[in-house]
Amino acid sequence: MKIKHFKLSRRTLPLKKVFRTALREATSLSEVVISITMDNGIVGVGSACASEKITGETLASIESAIEENIAPQLTGMDLQYWERVMEALQGSLKNNCGAKAGVDIALYDALAQSRKLPLWKLLGGYRSQLETNLTLSLDSPEKMYEEAQKAVEEGFLALKIKVGADLRASVQLVEKIRNNLGENIQIRLDANQAWTAQEAITVIEELKPYQIELVEQPVSAHNWEGLKWIRERVQTLIMADESVFSLEDAHRLVSHQAADILNIKLMKCGGIHQALKINHVAEAAGIECMVGSMMEGPISSYAAACLAAAQKNVTRVDLDSVLFLKPTEPLVGFRYEGRHIYLDE
Ligand SMILES: [Mg+2]
Repeated sequence: MKIKHFKLSRRTLPLKKVFRTALREATSLSEVVISITMDNGIVGVGSACASEKITGETLASIESAIEENIAPQLTGMDLQYWERVMEALQGSLKNNCGAKAGVDIALYDALAQSRKLPLWKLLGGYRSQLETNLTLSLDSPEKMYEEAQKAVEEGFLALKIKVGADLRASVQLVEKIRNNLGENIQIRLDANQAWTAQEAITVIEELKPYQIELVEQPVSAHNWEGLKWIRERVQTLIMADESVFSLEDAHRLVSHQAADILNIKLMKCGGIHQALKINHVAEAAGIECMVGSMMEGPISSYAAACLAAAQKNVTRVDLDSVLFLKPTEPLVGFRYEGRHIYLDE
């Protein structure tokens, strides 16, 4: 099965309401949809989202990376020589991990179709259901609490709270959630790099009575020493997100014991092929992974769900992006019911 033709198209999917993190604010998500036609007629579909603030990519840069570098190098290659195709994709140009991820997803889709297997089975088939946490977008403490209340009513058992520079507000919000919404709710905090290492220690200490499950990316992406320094001083699990893009990042983080959990996102690591390697490196070091996503559409969210379902070492799932979209089209290959994600046969 040889790669014959690449087709790209842009689309914008509106969100139900504005979504905020410490890094950015969004009312819609835009992505490039990548369709790759094979010489036997199979068309693999992938997508790549532009996350300027995280990956540095724009829709235009994704398109040009694929049109000018990736497509010319991959066209004509035979998917039977999978490792060679993946080597060519990852080596086609430096960085541009979202563009590579979109192409990787499309190629895996084509491979799964040719093998007549759903992608989650092709990748390992460990489980067919997942439970996602629900993210609370950064807002006033009152609004965030309201959202938390609503999420718990809808059956979510894990809340991921986006926190920012206002440490006091974050502590008060967690206190209120824990005291009013029950002991069983898992509380995950995502600082998106907003704190110094010392601030992180202060907040985590203050939050001790409220049993936070984990804190994600407390310090800036490149402050690995800070991540390790925090991890050595607190009981709460520390998860790396913006600090882990590549397989090499993952290896360095686990060998320096700088994180308890790695958050794998296809748009950061360049796709499923690299994500599997990251997960195995982590697994070898006894470190579990979360599979998360950027604000992404259904195509790449499905690919991420398949990865999460396929792999035993993926023990946490943050794939709620689809739930923030205004429903404009039916989901293909999976469905959501509250916190549950069911993968189709
Ligand atoms: Mg994060």
